[in-house]
Amino acid sequence: MLRSLLAALSTVTVLAVVAVQTPAYATHEVDSMVPTTTYHPICLGTTDLLSGMVCQTDNANVYWYADSNDPGELEDNDVASLENMLSTQYAPTDLAIYYDGSPVFSGTAQTDIVYQESEDALPLPSGYRGWTWCNDDVSTEAYACDQQYVRIQSPDGYRIFGGGLACHETGHAVGLLHGAQAYPVLPSTDGRFGCMMNEIYELPYYLGSDQVHQINNTY
Ligand SMILES: [Zn+2]
Repeated sequence: MLRSLLAALSTVTVLAVVAVQTPAYATHEVDSMVPTTTYHPICLGTTDLLSGMVCQTDNANVYWYADSNDPGELEDNDVASLENMLSTQYAPTDLAIYYDGSPVFSGTAQTDIVYQESEDALPLPSGYRGWTWCNDDVSTEAYACDQQYVRIQSPDGYRIFGGGLACHETGHAVGLLHGAQAYPVLPSTDGRFGCMMNEIYELPYYLGSDQVHQINNTY
């Protein structure tokens, strides 16, 4: 309760500050925020990565934490790159981004996104450079997740492409999908998806204007 109240109070200030910077995209051409006509499973939390699904985060206040414990820890330069990506790409949207220095891993107000680095003890599904999954859904809402995990390849996954991989996985953590799950369905490499493009080597570090609009529309 305290957390929500504080968040609500501080959001007013944050939104007022960033409102000027937020591009005023009037609409979006392609629907790629879960649920779409193409992809609409009910959000279910899981500890099994392969059963993970794309869910929305549970509200506009996004608290994030970078794992600081072996084996999933991010090094300082990874955290700095992640922080920079979040502040340039997600903070200017209607989401309010907060670093959570006291992460919460149980209950109904958990830290929204926990970032990890993949290591032998924390593998990624074969062939993937990053993976995002909901480990605890909000039982009273169809598409919302209380806590999402993002796991990105080691050692430089958070730093390469100006943060493109982290931009992509964070997009999933707030409900953004690939072209294949969008409506209408588009090639995964369609440039309008920005960092949510898939099946290309070098991901851009930025959100597409459609993605920004849908975030602002949803939260
Ligand atoms: Zn993806």
